[in-house]
Amino acid sequence: MTPKEVLEFAKKNGAKMVDLRFTDFPGIWQNFTVPIEELTEESFEAGYGFDGSSIRGWQEIHESDMIIIPDPNTAVMDPFYEVPTLVLLCNVFDPITKEPYSRDPRYVAQKAEEYLKSTGIGDVAFFGPEPEFFIFDDIRYDSGTNFSFYFVDSIEGTWNTGREECPNLGYKPRPKEGYFPVPPTDKLHDLRTEMVMVLQQVGIKIECQHHEVATAGQAEIDMRFAPLLKMGDQLMWYKYVIKNVAYKHGKTVTFMPKPLFGDNGSGMHTHMSIWKGDTPLFAGDRYAGLSETALYAIGGILKHCKAVCAFTNPTTNSYKRLTPGFEAPVNLCYSSRNRSAAIRIPMYSPSPKAKRIEFRTPDPSCNGYLAFAAMLMAALDGIENRIDPGEPMDKDLYSLPPEELKDIPTTPATLEEALQALEEDHEFLMKGDVFTEDLIRKWIEYKRENEADQVRLRPHPYEFYLYFDI
Ligand code: GLN
Ligand code: MG
Ligand code: MG
Ligand code: MG
Repeated sequence: MTPKEVLEFAKKNGAKMVDLRFTDFPGIWQNFTVPIEELTEESFEAGYGFDGSSIRGWQEIHESDMIIIPDPNTAVMDPFYEVPTLVLLCNVFDPITKEPYSRDPRYVAQKAEEYLKSTGIGDVAFFGPEPEFFIFDDIRYDSGTNFSFYFVDSIEGTWNTGREECPNLGYKPRPKEGYFPVPPTDKLHDLRTEMVMVLQQVGIKIECQHHEVATAGQAEIDMRFAPLLKMGDQLMWYKYVIKNVAYKHGKTVTFMPKPLFGDNGSGMHTHMSIWKGDTPLFAGDRYAGLSETALYAIGGILKHCKAVCAFTNPTTNSYKRLTPGFEAPVNLCYSSRNRSAAIRIPMYSPSPKAKRIEFRTPDPSCNGYLAFAAMLMAALDGIENRIDPGEPMDKDLYSLPPEELKDIPTTPATLEEALQALEEDHEFLMKGDVFTEDLIRKWIEYKRENEADQVRLRPHPYEFYLYFDI
């Protein structure tokens, strides 16, 4: 849309207000709202001022005003507000220099797309994330604030966690058995369908919805693949719509990767491919129908995986998911069949156009703009430097004896380990100035001081069980 078309679109839809949204450092939408009269064609150049000093991770160097400039290609009517409201997604700029702000995640995604084109390797990178999430206030658990499951499991050595209702399961899937019986065992079908309909209403193509493996209302709704920046925007809409539909029904949704001990966590497997013109570059006649380019891309992702995890798995809780036995990857290898590998090559692809790789490590606590950009930069580094991904691993990695696993590197064990990996390995992210030194330094500092250290310093509930009587 042009700015003029946005104004017509707003008028046609009776918009009275304009909600201006941008994404903060950790990946949460922030907004402020102006009356429709305040939106003119000029607004798309002049932008709107705001105080950047209270936005997480940004305040230090930008104590003064910042401006946001709306992107006219992002106009959508909000599906929830009572008063008809136009939503515009914005980029963040310095008001004096008019330079785009280097810590604006959306700008990083834009630069990653530009960098891809500048290499001549391809024109567009497609991303297809499969976010999983929990819908709480449902079935067995309270809203995740009840810590009893830490204790019950370990003492009884059983799967009985949280509120006890055994032996009558009353149409309740047992842990790890939520995939995927019909109602009445699945009690969230209608709620997920409503989420799908609202996602469609805001312009997102949906492929599928289902209950996921974990017992307590774990869900998955899959979007059709889209180019990097567009998918970054869509992931923001996705979380917004899903949380708001749940909230309307008295439920809460969490995208934290491992809310429950002893049950599956929530991943965000991400399918990825690169195209040049009409040619899908990942289809070929090598392993599992891949091209040499795709194998090099895998080589790049595996090589840089630990550093990439600082963006794709950016919370302390992320590393409680990346443990054996819960369909989450632990080993940094690839396979066409193996869901325990970090990269899987889906065998079902109706045509070469659908040929892609599935990176299974990411989780939905990530900031999509930064996570997709980091994945693309790692893949491009692999292609540019012809990084050999090694041999595929077509065995179940969870059940291999330790001697067979000893040479396969693993995902980081903690957020701190991922941040250290990023500290040591970030040249590949800085090509084309996609991730600036300032952004990487601040990301490490922000995550370490506000999250990793804060969790490390606090006594854990389970420590009371272990040590109180010592
Ligand atoms: N929940 C699993 C994960 O953490 C994935 C389960 C699945 O999609 N088969 O990655
Ligand atoms: Mg899936
Ligand atoms: Mg899934
Ligand atoms: Mg998957």
